[in-house]
Amino acid sequence: MPNTTPLWLFDLDNTLHNASHAIFPAINANMNVFMTRVLEEQGLPADQQAVNEMRQRYWRLYGATLIGMIQHHEVRSEDFLRDAHAFPDLASMIRAERGLSHLLRRLPGRKILLTNAPRRYSRDVVRHLGLHRHFEKHISIEQMHVHRRLRPKPSRQMLRKLLARERVPARRCILVEDTAVNLKSAKNLGLRTAWVTQYLHGNVHVTGIDARRQSTMHPAYVDVKVKSVRQLATHLGRLAR
Ligand SMILES: [Mg+2]
Repeated sequence: MPNTTPLWLFDLDNTLHNASHAIFPAINANMNVFMTRVLEEQGLPADQQAVNEMRQRYWRLYGATLIGMIQHHEVRSEDFLRDAHAFPDLASMIRAERGLSHLLRRLPGRKILLTNAPRRYSRDVVRHLGLHRHFEKHISIEQMHVHRRLRPKPSRQMLRKLLARERVPARRCILVEDTAVNLKSAKNLGLRTAWVTQYLHGNVHVTGIDARRQSTMHPAYVDVKVKSVRQLATHLGRLAR
């Protein structure tokens, strides 16, 4: 018998906290340092503009800059992830709304944290937010392998594998995210989707869609569009019934 309890998959960065405030700028700067070193070693153009363009291009193409660096520059994922997420004082960089714990308690069903970020960083953030106890599992990028290859969001193979393992039919599963392309691929598989938009303004450099357009868009692959996850409870009829 398939499980009929809803399963919520929550993204972390720019969904449960404002990563655009200080964390993403620091990650981008860290990635640039790492990438510059690699490109110089490989005799490739490594000026600031070339590095920025490459970082954004890999993010758009693969859902994570890391995948491009593995495929085209043979970096080790642990080295890249460690350097990209090295912060002098992570706690002081976190900005989030109040009331998220209350919201997560109210939502019926199981909850899994599903983030393309590395384990140590995402564990530290979710603990700092005081939300870790609401998630029965924490799936970080290190756990997103399919046939031994790293397949982060928006990989449909990864999502399919997750649904099979959790024994949940796609229609009982809800992805809550800020990144539209991840919602699109989830919808393709039959999941329900909730788009969280309040932190998107800081994301234009990676999504390529400007904030004003995103605020008026409501793509067909989005079941519910909310500014904040706190509004999810008022949309349960479209998501979890
Ligand atoms: Mg996100």
